[in-house]
Amino acid sequence: MTKIPFSKVVCDGHELTYIREVLASGWLTTAGKTQAFEERFAESVGARFACAVNSCTAALHLALEALGVGPGNKVLVPTMTFTATAEVVRYLEADPVFLDVEYGSSLVTPDVLAEALQRHPDAKVFIPVHFGGHPAPLLSETGKGLLELCRKRGVRVVEDAAHAFPARCAGRMIGSIGDVTCFSFYANKTITTGEGGMLTTDDEAIARRTRVMRLHGIDRDIWDRFNASKASWEYDVIAAGYKYNMPDITAAIGLAQLERAELLRQERQRCAYYYLRNLAAIDCIDLPRVSVDMADHAWHLFPIILKRNAPVSRDHFIELLGERGIGTSVHYKPLHRMTYYRERYCLKPEDYPNAERIWKGCVSLPIYSSLTDDELEYICSAVADILQ
Ligand SMILES: *Cc1c(COP(=O)(O)O)cnc(C)c1O
Repeated sequence: MTKIPFSKVVCDGHELTYIREVLASGWLTTAGKTQAFEERFAESVGARFACAVNSCTAALHLALEALGVGPGNKVLVPTMTFTATAEVVRYLEADPVFLDVEYGSSLVTPDVLAEALQRHPDAKVFIPVHFGGHPAPLLSETGKGLLELCRKRGVRVVEDAAHAFPARCAGRMIGSIGDVTCFSFYANKTITTGEGGMLTTDDEAIARRTRVMRLHGIDRDIWDRFNASKASWEYDVIAAGYKYNMPDITAAIGLAQLERAELLRQERQRCAYYYLRNLAAIDCIDLPRVSVDMADHAWHLFPIILKRNAPVSRDHFIELLGERGIGTSVHYKPLHRMTYYRERYCLKPEDYPNAERIWKGCVSLPIYSSLTDDELEYICSAVADILQ
């Protein structure tokens, strides 16, 4: 029986070497490896500051906190995302406003955003999600990109780039564009540390606040406490901060993954090309809409959408692929369908027609660096066999 899991991590770079260095150092949590990871990550996306944390969720929380989001503030988020994007808004007692997305890309479009900004002139922050690794249209030649629309209205932009490393928009790396960008190194993301995240920004005040709040609201930087001549017990607490720092063991894995990030991306792009070529003839599915260069896409996911004329339901399709040893996933059951958000904000499916259409048919196929052409062929034949 062929077994092709939905996701598989390969750690065949310098992971073990760097972990050994941490073990030998006698200090396992935040120190030099984390600092090195931050420096290399900032360099790789072209941001002034990078702050390592223990998840993307923590990064999103810290970003909103640093921007002063508080009770009753409105934050615009796509409905087609993971709950973390919206839950952090609730941590601060602010309210998410859910936006419909484009059919085929699952991205918020400038048209939808422009309408939402008119309807909610008091919105404070917009969180675009670079769905599946496809960069959201932040910048455009006509000046009508998502970021440009927000700038005109004084709305801050915190990017949820959990899917989007490495990726580019209009020639710039994701991580160097919005006010703040948040990355995830969760187990199934494009580069991983098991659990981990990174916040990037060019704004020194945001970086400073993030560094204080990620470690208990302590006013001295983590390395400073262990390296500086001033005694490590001598510090002040200037806010009720959080415990969101990244341990050095984690950063060691991150450093090794970062070295191969572009190589891994190219392998996922190979998978995407294979699917786009070999699934194009199946007329009861829609393939992901790609409106950027293939090389600007992080290719975290390959979501297809079963159309109404498909001979099997989405759920049955997933079962049949499972019987053939092929793992799949669904991205996402939209947030307007989740009990907490639906009940709290009285959300109605008819207000999200595109997300509804996507949700009813979406299936994500395996896409990762170690997926062989033989496995890709096996997956494509199985899909064609079930649907034709
Ligand atoms: C994975 C994910 C997150 C959360 O990342 P963690 O590192 O697990 O906190 C946030 N947003 C999206 C879109 C994700 O896919």
